[in-house]
Amino acid sequence: MKKIAVIGAGASGLVAAIFAARQGNDVILLEKNNICGKKLLATGNGRCNFWNEDQSLVHYRSSNFDKIKNILNDTNREKILEFFKSIGIEAKIKNGYYYPFSNQASSMQKALILEAEKEKIQINTNQEVTDIKKINDKFEIYCKDRDKIISDRVILATGSKASPKTGSTGFGYEICKKMNHSIVKPLPALVQLRGAEPFFKEWKGIRADVSITLYENNQKIAQEKGEIQLTDYGISGICVFNLSGRVARGLEKKKQERVEINFLEGLDIKTQDEFLVWVNHRDKILKNRTIAELLEGVLNDKLVKILLKRAKISGQLKWKELEESKRENLAKNIIAFSFSITGTNSFEQAQICSGGIPLDEISSQTMESKKVAGLYLIGELLDVDGDCGGYNLEWAWVTGMIAGTN
Ligand SMILES: Cc1cc2nc3c(=O)[nH]c(=O)nc-3n(C[C@H](O)[C@H](O)[C@H](O)COP(=O)(O)OP(=O)(O)OC[C@H]3O[C@@H](n4cnc5c(N)ncnc54)[C@H](O)[C@@H]3O)c2cc1C
Repeated sequence: MKKIAVIGAGASGLVAAIFAARQGNDVILLEKNNICGKKLLATGNGRCNFWNEDQSLVHYRSSNFDKIKNILNDTNREKILEFFKSIGIEAKIKNGYYYPFSNQASSMQKALILEAEKEKIQINTNQEVTDIKKINDKFEIYCKDRDKIISDRVILATGSKASPKTGSTGFGYEICKKMNHSIVKPLPALVQLRGAEPFFKEWKGIRADVSITLYENNQKIAQEKGEIQLTDYGISGICVFNLSGRVARGLEKKKQERVEINFLEGLDIKTQDEFLVWVNHRDKILKNRTIAELLEGVLNDKLVKILLKRAKISGQLKWKELEESKRENLAKNIIAFSFSITGTNSFEQAQICSGGIPLDEISSQTMESKKVAGLYLIGELLDVDGDCGGYNLEWAWVTGMIAGTN
């Protein structure tokens, strides 16, 4: 029996502690919040989207991308899905997204705590770890307001710097740095994008179903589809979040980041020619309408005003009165509305971080640090970030399970 200290009782730490205890070890869980799994309660808008049917690795990014497949392999995925059943979580699957059947994130948090209690894990909340030292083959763990704890192994599960109000303030990076690990600079991800365009104030509050394409130094690097929310600083929504990690990394490297929005993606209009055919047809059916009236019923009326203003076209003109170059300009503004991204919102608003401890500094079989024997690194602390859709929790569960088992 070994004494295992798990630092951080978020998604990854709770799972790691349970698996370590199931191996017959003496496990102590140290959490600085007054409850375990505080961030879990906020996941999936309070419903906890904990998994996804689409298991393609395209949903992840890392500076050591090749290592992800060794960790998120079929065996580990099956084991963790069995684990959820073993702690009483039945899944409700909507469009491939898994939620607890109760539709409550608190069910996931409670199920994990109940299991941790059943496994006789010593759960210590209100215990902020301030330092960890390795002395010979033991670890000394220093907390605020209590004597140091001695353990044989440490599992570091303190998360990233995203959403610090839930407890993750970047402590793990400092410890890892002290223990000779390198760090891929953590940047906000799954977060809103900012720009500096004058029309943002006018489009605030509009929602639209779009495709959004990201260009880096004018090269297309990604595309997402879904509902976008237009805000007074830029853009938000899941499709925007999924691009944000790449934008943050690109801006950090001083690359130029630009998006193009197609407001008619939902009608399957992708090219200028398709747009012109569509408007001509509409003009024939809806005779004598002005251009603004032709777009009525398809696009938000506030948005129509902005698009026409940007295309420098009077909405009072009829389609047939518009010269070809103006028609093309209108098409461009509606199906490829382009503007530069100047930044992301901060760690406070970000759901996760891009960056962290590189995967080539840990063993993919055990999650053990290659720098410090007996230290295990898991969850969002590592340099892996996933799309919205359950992918970040999957990473936390699986890495927690591997570390706990080993
Ligand atoms: C609003 C929001 C919604 C999200 N929704 C989803 C979703 O639906 N699906 C999905 O897959 N992902 C979602 N995520 C991302 C997901 O929650 C995280 O990727 C995941 O929780 C990371 O788990 P973790 O265990 O690595 O870190 P965390 O869950 O952040 O846990 C780290 C824990 O360590 C504790 N800690 C930190 N420092 C110390 C210290 N010095 N001493 C003691 N304890 C410490 C913290 O208090 C915290 O409890 C969401 C995130 C946010 C913010």
